[in-house]
Amino acid sequence: MAEKINNDRHYRLLDCYEASKHHFERAANKLKLNRQLRDWLRIPFREIAVHLPVVMDDGSLHIFEGYRIQHNNARGPHKGGLRYHPEVSMDDVRGLASWMTWKTALLNLPLGGAKGGIACDAKNMSRGELERLTRKYTQAISVDIGPNQDIPAPDVNTDENVMAWIMDEYSKLRGYEPAVVTGKPIELGGSPGRKDATGRGITYIVEQWAADNGLEMTETTAVIQGLGNVGYYTAYHLSKMGCRVIAVSDTEAGVLNEKGLDVEALFEHKQETGSVSGFSGAKTIESDDIFALECDFLIPAALENAIMKDNAVKIKARVIFEAANGPTCPLTEPSLAEKGVAIVPDILVNSGGVVVSYFEWVQNLQQFSWSEEQVDSELRKRMQGAYHRVIDKAKTENVSLRIAAYMLAIEKVSSAAQTRGAY
Ligand code: NAD
Repeated sequence: MAEKINNDRHYRLLDCYEASKHHFERAANKLKLNRQLRDWLRIPFREIAVHLPVVMDDGSLHIFEGYRIQHNNARGPHKGGLRYHPEVSMDDVRGLASWMTWKTALLNLPLGGAKGGIACDAKNMSRGELERLTRKYTQAISVDIGPNQDIPAPDVNTDENVMAWIMDEYSKLRGYEPAVVTGKPIELGGSPGRKDATGRGITYIVEQWAADNGLEMTETTAVIQGLGNVGYYTAYHLSKMGCRVIAVSDTEAGVLNEKGLDVEALFEHKQETGSVSGFSGAKTIESDDIFALECDFLIPAALENAIMKDNAVKIKARVIFEAANGPTCPLTEPSLAEKGVAIVPDILVNSGGVVVSYFEWVQNLQQFSWSEEQVDSELRKRMQGAYHRVIDKAKTENVSLRIAAYMLAIEKVSSAAQTRGAY
């Protein structure tokens, strides 16, 4: 089994691909999935690696490595985000791509799974450098993406501007085509409600879990790791529901205010200074200290493997909502279960982004736009429907919510693959 050593913490982690296969195997065992289907569904359909020469602002030439992994398209075109991060690896993208297959199936969207990544330090690149890199990447993969093939979307360190460059470059090469990406600016065919869709979707799951567990949202507290797209909009919508968001962290620091943070003011502070550190409405603490705080909801919304053995022992939350992809190292899950900390899994919790991406794709194909109210009410319906399917499956099969979610997704994909005669 491939393992990574995290030098800061001195023990083993599973990368995204190993984590995804770990969960897949457990669910496949429970489903008694036959060997051929397992072999077919575990591995990606297509793996693309590209080397991208980009002239930097100082005139030097830098060669970047980029990937696009198309995991499975039995239920529809491949769909998944594009990540810019210095540590992106082929294996991480393989895992992230497979999670998209399970997510789209669980949410009953007529789409498959994919993911892209470019190893780059996006935070320290100029806008011009990012644009040139994005256009080079689009040129390199243009024959493998498209509205009926593979539709990228934003992920870590990519946003609506990056999607606009992809759409423009693709359209130059292959004719005007807004449906080639989702998460675009509204004026280029983006959907109302896409920007905050992942965060909004997360809060619908939190709200439902709270109701099922006898909690009033106005009496709850939340701690959130990460204040990017997902973390901020989750914090924002939870606050609007009356939940007290008491602590938030980013890579530099954490901030704590037990009376509840003013999340909009905190976000403004982060935009102005680059970090949550030093926010006047709260006490600044170490980034990792947020895991030890007493709270109802712990919401990791940054990167994979945020929760590992050393910080899992400190967790006092009732429940973890996995807003990021793969934030809980699978090797840590048994100890959390022993402590009675529930985990609501990523492929359910953070699926609001791909749900509204699906709505955006549909609007582009129909050339007909929806109102924000329509997007939001359809999103809520889809999220709550999936939540109830997972809860019911976990009860009837006597398995964790994660295994229940995987079982539902694998059943759908394997049924489509068999019916199509795809293997
Ligand atoms: P983003 O780049 O907008 O934000 C990431 C945030 O995490 C940043 O604030 C960064 O400072 C913080 N962070 C990184 N490492 C950290 C650490 N060790 N401690 C504390 N904070 C840390 O990315 P995003 O789009 O918000 O994505 C976050 C996660 O959600 C990823 O796992 C992504 O795959 C997943 N996700 C995103 C979407 C989407 O629509 N953007 C949809 C589904 C899932």
